[in-house]
Amino acid sequence: MRTSLSQLLESHSVIVADGGMGTMLFALGLQRGSAPELWNVGHPDAVRSVHSRYIGAGAQIILTNTFGGSRIRLAIHGLEERMAEFNRAGAQLAGMEAEQAAHPVVVAGSIGPSGQMLTPFGDLEFEDAVQVFAEQAAALAEGGADVLWIETMSDLQEVHAAVEGCRQRAPQLPLVTTMTFDTHGRTMMGVKPEQAIKTLSDYGVIALGANCGNGPDELEAVIEKMHQTQPETVLVAKANAGMPRMEGDTPVYEATPDVMAEYALRVHKLGARIIGSCCGSTPDHIAAIASALKG
Ligand SMILES: [Zn+2]
Repeated sequence: MRTSLSQLLESHSVIVADGGMGTMLFALGLQRGSAPELWNVGHPDAVRSVHSRYIGAGAQIILTNTFGGSRIRLAIHGLEERMAEFNRAGAQLAGMEAEQAAHPVVVAGSIGPSGQMLTPFGDLEFEDAVQVFAEQAAALAEGGADVLWIETMSDLQEVHAAVEGCRQRAPQLPLVTTMTFDTHGRTMMGVKPEQAIKTLSDYGVIALGANCGNGPDELEAVIEKMHQTQPETVLVAKANAGMPRMEGDTPVYEATPDVMAEYALRVHKLGARIIGSCCGSTPDHIAAIASALKG
């Protein structure tokens, strides 16, 4: 069955989110270097099966397979014309699995970074970025997303552009924003957790926090700083399944489900209320997280 994030937050002290989508799709045959969003149309059953397994593991929030679904990201694959189609389909697939779930599930429309730097560091103008995120937000809303989930961000300006875009074309949907603190406790663009929480909560998001990065330990330190800065804010923690180790050009993640269950308990104690995982995680990790948090 379907629910809203505000209802989940009212009725639960801690909420389980899902784990990595890319990790699962690669295991199902997605080739590295190709656009995962293409599978929303080409292999919808595969995408649905990933959602279904995360829900079965206990996830109460599932993220759509639309992380790289902005026109700019899709243009790398020559697929920019199909932006609306992929995002709509991604939200619809997650929605179908949420409807069938035995427990209430929220469909979060994933919006990742554009992959381009905004001015003055890069060429992307703020207004153009707003436009790009607005189009993606509109398609996700059309597909039925319950919340828009802006994730893996490094630059506060880009988050601002994404929030603006979402507000323009999907003003009815609540927003969640998470940043990636993978450079000595800061984002790649130098943003500290204390700065991030202040700026992001000024945008009126329903929850915010950290995802991806160098594994649970670094992410826990980020959540601790955020919670100390603003204890009343709803915090999201989605750590990768350990610190990635490169095997050739393939990142390998080795944290076991038990390790991720311990992370879930620790990060909850440090103040996170929405807890899931990111790259390298599977439904086994989420099942371990869910049962640890329930116990
Ligand atoms: Zn990740």
